[in-house]
Amino acid sequence: MVNHRYLLLVLSLLLFGPSHNLWGIDQQTPSSVILSEGFNDVGLEGKIYFLSDPQRQLGIDAVSSPVHVNDFKSGSGNIGFTNAAVWVRYTLTSHLETRRRLILEIDYPLIDEIEFYQPDGVGGFEVRLGGDTNPFVLREIKFRNTLFTFEIEPGQSVTYYMRLVSRGPIQVPVKVWEFKAFAEHSSTTLFWHGLYFGAILLLIVSSIVGFYLFRTSLFLWYAFYLSCYGLLNFTVIGLSSQHLWPETPVLQEYASSILLSLVVIGAMIFSGKLLDLRQYSITYFYLFRVIILLALVGMVISLSGYLVLANQITTLSGMALVPIVISAAAVVYRRGNLAARYFLLAWGVFLVFVFISGLYYWGVLPYGFFTAYALQIGSVFEVTMLGVAIADRIALINKEKEKADKLANNYLVILNEKLEELVHERTEELVESNRKLHKLATHDSLTLLLNHHSIINALKTAISAAERLRQPLCIAMIDVDQFKQINDKFGHQVGDNVLVAIANTFTRSLRAYDVAGRYGGEEFLLILPQTNAENATELIERLRENITELIFSGTQGKGVTVSVGMTSYQCGIEMNTDTLIRCADIALYRAKENGRDRIEWGNCVAAVNDVRSS
Ligand code: GH3
Ligand code: MG
Ligand code: MG
Repeated sequence: MVNHRYLLLVLSLLLFGPSHNLWGIDQQTPSSVILSEGFNDVGLEGKIYFLSDPQRQLGIDAVSSPVHVNDFKSGSGNIGFTNAAVWVRYTLTSHLETRRRLILEIDYPLIDEIEFYQPDGVGGFEVRLGGDTNPFVLREIKFRNTLFTFEIEPGQSVTYYMRLVSRGPIQVPVKVWEFKAFAEHSSTTLFWHGLYFGAILLLIVSSIVGFYLFRTSLFLWYAFYLSCYGLLNFTVIGLSSQHLWPETPVLQEYASSILLSLVVIGAMIFSGKLLDLRQYSITYFYLFRVIILLALVGMVISLSGYLVLANQITTLSGMALVPIVISAAAVVYRRGNLAARYFLLAWGVFLVFVFISGLYYWGVLPYGFFTAYALQIGSVFEVTMLGVAIADRIALINKEKEKADKLANNYLVILNEKLEELVHERTEELVESNRKLHKLATHDSLTLLLNHHSIINALKTAISAAERLRQPLCIAMIDVDQFKQINDKFGHQVGDNVLVAIANTFTRSLRAYDVAGRYGGEEFLLILPQTNAENATELIERLRENITELIFSGTQGKGVTVSVGMTSYQCGIEMNTDTLIRCADIALYRAKENGRDRIEWGNCVAAVNDVRSS
């Protein structure tokens, strides 16, 4: 029932150390295996005797002669790598009631050459060939393990010999079967094999689907590892010889060695990626590379045909794999890579099953489904858990990404708010400075009244409004009398103050819809919309008096007077700003002529005609 002997050998060497009983130390008189009526199968462990022939020079006649009887020693059958030819001897004694045809099974299909020697009854031996270099198609019974049939008479005691040669490790688990029991046993085994390889195949398919869904190379390496691992198991239990290359046994020679290399390479690359070694432990990253290199070297050597050396190197890399992978996962997990948890669980549980299997193999644990199939159960659990580990890693990466996205989003929101605030501030500043610029461009900086350009514009607007609404409109051109004298006497600064004070008087005395502007120097233009000549005169007269009453600082009590030229807009007559201003100017000139400090009215219609005729 032990189908993973090859792997088990590798792993048990690792766990338990090399067997100290490769070659027996106690010389015993040959003991015989009794076949009693009703037996189904009997294992020959402990009843087999071994003889090592390092030079491979002994033949059946020599080893069966009394000279060598005492050179055979009992042993466990777990021989390992050897260049020697291994001779095996066992004796069967039939307590059966009839002559019976039985089966001898060597439950380790990787031995290269097996010669089975059965006494021919006339003092010689009849020889038959087995082992995996013997083409499958030539086998006596087409089965994954080497089987030999033989007949035994009641009461007969027969000693058989086998000569084994192999470039891989040698194990000799031998069993004698009753025919019917063997048929039942092989059909049960077939079922479990189907289940096992079905599970592996399913995992391979799902990991390829996983690759298409998630586009992470992890799934591909996992599929690669699983494929090599599955094929290796398929090969070491002899199923590849049976189903994949029944006529080319040479493939079998290379397959297990090369496949073990590929399993090691696949496992190391997959584990390295899953554990993110490059980031979490550069020491393990390089250690993994060393193991991969070792496996690659083993593979190249086996391809060059040096199978013994290749097998030893590859087995070494396989033995190193488990402890290194587990310790790497533990280190990486301690350093905060959560994705290592299922990975650790996978390999940890696998090791437990290897341990159980080892105990069973060593005879500490009894036969049972759980113990006999421990390695298969463990490996199915392991590879399934590795798949879970990939899913876990993807989930963890997604979580990290979500966290980062959320953080980035929060930053964006804050940034946006800040930006909005800033834009708002800047806009307000801009509006304010525009307002200031506009004021500077349209107003006189000394008196803060409209400047020349703006008061002309305001007059244009007022004229078109008066025309449209058929409403009266008056303007007044005001000039400070003898202003030069103020400047000359009290200085320009005082002159400026006088101008400001006069301007303030306008602002105070005028109505909301009246407009005042500085026409130039000490001349001001007032626009009085919706005002007829009579009201305008009254308004400006009061203004003139107010100005006269102003008291200025720095003029030693001297006040000022103003002369005013007024005119009114006549609806229906074509009048523009020029004619209106000119008319007011003429009136102002007259006021000056007539002695200043007074208002004079100008006749606009006459002025228009005057303009037209000139
Ligand atoms: P009249 O009664 O004939 O108008 O005599 P006037 O002295 O007021 O007239 P004139 O045109 O001879 O002189 C005007 C003076 O106004 C000359 C100029 O120095 C002064 N002036 C013009 N603008 C300003 C100003 O912004 N500040 C000051 N301080 N003086 C100004
Ligand atoms: Mg003046
Ligand atoms: Mg003047």
